[in-house]
Amino acid sequence: MNLTLHLTADCNLRCRYCYETHCKNHMTWDTARQAVDLVFSYGHETNGLSLFGGEPLLERGIDEEICRYAKAEARRRGVSVRFKMTTNGTLLDESFLKFANEHDLEIALSHDGLLQDRQRLTRDGRPTREKLEPVVDLLLRYQPNAVALQTVTPETVGGMAESVAWLHDRGFARVNSVIDYRPGAGWDDGSLAVLREQYEAVADLMEARFDDKRPLLFLPFLTKISAYLNDRPCLECKLGMRQPSVAEDGSIYPCNQFLYLPEYRMGHVSAGVDRAKQHAIYTASLAPEPDCEGCAILDRCRHHCACLNFSLTGDMHRVAPVQCEHERILIPIADALAERLYEKKSARFLLNYREDGLE
Ligand code: SF4
Ligand code: SF4
Ligand code: SF4
Repeated sequence: MNLTLHLTADCNLRCRYCYETHCKNHMTWDTARQAVDLVFSYGHETNGLSLFGGEPLLERGIDEEICRYAKAEARRRGVSVRFKMTTNGTLLDESFLKFANEHDLEIALSHDGLLQDRQRLTRDGRPTREKLEPVVDLLLRYQPNAVALQTVTPETVGGMAESVAWLHDRGFARVNSVIDYRPGAGWDDGSLAVLREQYEAVADLMEARFDDKRPLLFLPFLTKISAYLNDRPCLECKLGMRQPSVAEDGSIYPCNQFLYLPEYRMGHVSAGVDRAKQHAIYTASLAPEPDCEGCAILDRCRHHCACLNFSLTGDMHRVAPVQCEHERILIPIADALAERLYEKKSARFLLNYREDGLE
């Protein structure tokens, strides 16, 4: 059983593209403990908890309590539990990284590389890249495979590829990149054309560095290529089943973007999941997206993400035009990259072609 715990919406940064409310509510230890108990009540052998914010390290005491308690419970029950956290890094230090490694807590760093100081600022508007330099070293020393998560906007997309190269040179083998999908972000034909060029440049870079001792693994491409190589359509949504979200007050929702919407509340950690409501939400999510019928890349596209659709269009089955266009840009570039790696007999590519995906 997997759960995402929304520990706080608050944050000590004010990134230009942030969609968080930054309200001060936070999860109490009592609520967090009930959430952990709920995870184990399902009796699954493998379990996961995602510690989510805002900035989750603002709640460091609760983070640590959750990991300690869940690990002890897992040991007692003879099952496993792992943890994930994405942090802005400003509160990350060596003692927490030691703790993380002792408790199977995987940390991803939100970092925009060369774009960092244009987008990721303190509450009073100061840059953050220099302050994070020692944190990057520490993180990579304790977790060498940590992911750097970069966000690009229409204003900064022209620097995306250079920034991916910088993050790789800085020591991150795994780099993820997401586009700022917020309504009003301002994507238009011009900025989408730049996005295409930038993805092509990242594909060239990944091709050149793919067989290095420390390869560049750009996750948006790898996800698409792995799904194709394994003859497996991109993952289904399984809304409300895969990884429900727990709000600060303990209410349970099907996924992140449905938080606080009363019509999607499907229980509380103190009483468990309302199975009938959960099933109704899941069943509703299975309906096809009407605009996608007959699309040639239906099986490769992320059209099914109810969260993303709902947050952009207000309808879990309606894909925003910018998202559709993004998938149409990304997928052919990922496929062409896979073809080039195959043609040039990339050792890493061929190894993974025979085995189980590329990640
Ligand atoms: S670090 Fe994350 S939560 Fe904090 S302001 Fe930036 S995007 Fe928002
Ligand atoms: S709504 Fe999106 S993020 Fe949530 S489970 Fe479905 S695919 Fe995953
Ligand atoms: S590319 Fe567009 S139309 Fe095709 S499946 Fe994706 S979202 Fe739907």
